[in-house]
Amino acid sequence: MNAATKTATHSVVTDQQLLDAFLEHIPDCVYFKDRDSRFVRISRALADRFGLKDPLEAVNKTDSDMFSSEHADQAFADEQNIIRTGQPIVCKEEKETWRDGRETWVSTTKVPLRNREGEIIGTMGISRDITERRVAELELQQYELHLEELVAARTSELTAATEQLERDIAARKLAEQELACKALELDRSNKDLEKFAYVASHDLQEPLRMVASYTQLLARRYKGKLDAEADEFINFAVDGANRMKQLIQDLLAYSRLSTRGASFAIVDSQDTCKAAITNLHQAIADAGAVLTVDSLPTVLADASQLTQLFQNLFGNAIKYCGERIPEIRVTVRNEGADWIFTVSDNGIGIEPQYFERIFEMFQRLHTRKEYAGTGIGLAICRNIVERHGGKIWVESQPGEGSKFIFTIPQKREQKK
Ligand code: ADP
Repeated sequence: MNAATKTATHSVVTDQQLLDAFLEHIPDCVYFKDRDSRFVRISRALADRFGLKDPLEAVNKTDSDMFSSEHADQAFADEQNIIRTGQPIVCKEEKETWRDGRETWVSTTKVPLRNREGEIIGTMGISRDITERRVAELELQQYELHLEELVAARTSELTAATEQLERDIAARKLAEQELACKALELDRSNKDLEKFAYVASHDLQEPLRMVASYTQLLARRYKGKLDAEADEFINFAVDGANRMKQLIQDLLAYSRLSTRGASFAIVDSQDTCKAAITNLHQAIADAGAVLTVDSLPTVLADASQLTQLFQNLFGNAIKYCGERIPEIRVTVRNEGADWIFTVSDNGIGIEPQYFERIFEMFQRLHTRKEYAGTGIGLAICRNIVERHGGKIWVESQPGEGSKFIFTIPQKREQKK
């Protein structure tokens, strides 16, 4: 007696009872069909699915009684194929369309039903509802599709943006190149201009010296010997020659800034300030000017240009003092990467609308009768400061003195 027979005998359960229990309680849909695909027997779960009270109600019915003809025809064809070939269908996922239009999904296995002799007398199958999983999968697929569309749209947006960016960069590079070319041209023409100013003023000096010395000779020899008008004419000529001399000297000084600029070195700005005071010794003494100078730092500079810068600013402070005794103060402070120098005076001051103009060549706020000058001094100052990589500006109120402020970088590459 084998183990299975032993167990069956023990609990007195027949094969029929086992099949009944199986069909009654298995949650999957189980069926047996004859060769014409008519139900012979179905499980309780399948009866529930068909909406039948009793599984026996399905006997002799076909799929056409339950499902849409489309689905029933497909199932019929599958089953006939199994009967004809003996080949089972295993775990096929198929859509069921019901007569009322519902759609469900099952994973189904169908095999041939054979009698004891092995002849195929129908089919039997088992299927499990996988609608929930399928719906989730479909939703996931749709979501993936949607995501892919989003990614595609975003990618094309990004591609368009990148292309635009590349176009912008190319245009910008072109503009930068053009700008660099223009800057080079400007630099060249500035240098040409400075050379021209240098050569012209240098060459003018000789004939001017001649005019000046002969007009002075005329003055010495004939003043008082001719009539009053002739004396006046001679005075005009002497004055004109002197002014022209000053103008040419200033122009030469200006053009020499870049043509004759020395290379930069570590310079004690205190020394350059002292040198400027020494150069202006006479003017300071004549005006009784009082200078107070802070302790000044060491900088990378062209020493003689720094001296000239201080000298021009001190000279102006003395010249534009009005009725007062000139008081000049030099202070320095350290801000970021710069030294900030300030030269303050107690002079006549400047109206804010002229703050920019006074740094341009030949721009003067006074007539020659009021104050002598050529209008080149501050242009020289600006050129020197810019050559050192700094900036210069003025702060002032009319009648309340002026502050000329300039910066010198604490460390810098030398400009060629
Ligand atoms: P110049 O002194 O030969 O006229 P500058 O270029 O040195 O030429 O100065 C330009 C103008 O700026 C001067 O004509 C004057 O009106 C004004 N200026 C310069 N320095 C001072 C100052 N310290 N106080 C008042 N005005 C000044």
